[in-house]
Amino acid sequence: MKKIIIAIDGDSSSGKSTLAKALAKEISYKHINTGSMYRAVTFAALKEGLISVNKINPKKIIELTEKLNFDFKLINNHSNLFLNGVNIEKEIRLNQISDLVSQVSTIFGVRKKIVEIQRQMGLDKGVVMEGRDIGSVVFPCAELKLFITADISIRADRRYNELKINNQSITRKAVLENLQKRDFIDRNRKHSPLIKVKDAILIDNSKLTIDDQILFIINYLKKNL
Ligand code: C5P
Repeated sequence: MKKIIIAIDGDSSSGKSTLAKALAKEISYKHINTGSMYRAVTFAALKEGLISVNKINPKKIIELTEKLNFDFKLINNHSNLFLNGVNIEKEIRLNQISDLVSQVSTIFGVRKKIVEIQRQMGLDKGVVMEGRDIGSVVFPCAELKLFITADISIRADRRYNELKINNQSITRKAVLENLQKRDFIDRNRKHSPLIKVKDAILIDNSKLTIDDQILFIINYLKKNL
């Protein structure tokens, strides 16, 4: 099969990453989780003191983004993000980052820089890239576009079960609120809001297993490409 770009967009905790990772493994493609890059900028901005109680410094965060180097490396079958040479995969999953990342992602200058890097990463094709604006902005010419969603309560359950393994104090209510807040900001922001573009295939995986989804996509690729 000729190498293509597969763009996966969708709501927070809709299972995009699980699907993208499994699909990339199945067809031997690279997996790029672009949410990790926005999380990394948030992490670096916090470290530099550019975010304090609900106050962010967009100008300084844009300058900081220009200096960051992003690299994805496969470790134990999982794509890990290295920021300026340091593996920050664990740090960027913390609640503190989840709470702030959607705000940082609204900054146009940050998006501009990150989209540029993502386009470079996809130059050779053979990539499954997931995020919120991949089919609409980063690769509007992607050969296959998927839009993933699931019922909000199912998404909250999935995320809560995942997070409570490492964080006993987390509550389902807090997880649900974070998802609702992020969905709202991501769908309503001025630049590159989360939308389902016309040529994207909608997958509501509320009642689907990962194997169901992979089978559907592989059959689609065999028939159409
Ligand atoms: O995918 P994940 O939930 O880790 O993404 C974290 C946040 O990064 C999203 O809620 C969204 O605000 C932002 N994001 C984005 N554009 C992307 C990927 C993620 O704005 N392509």
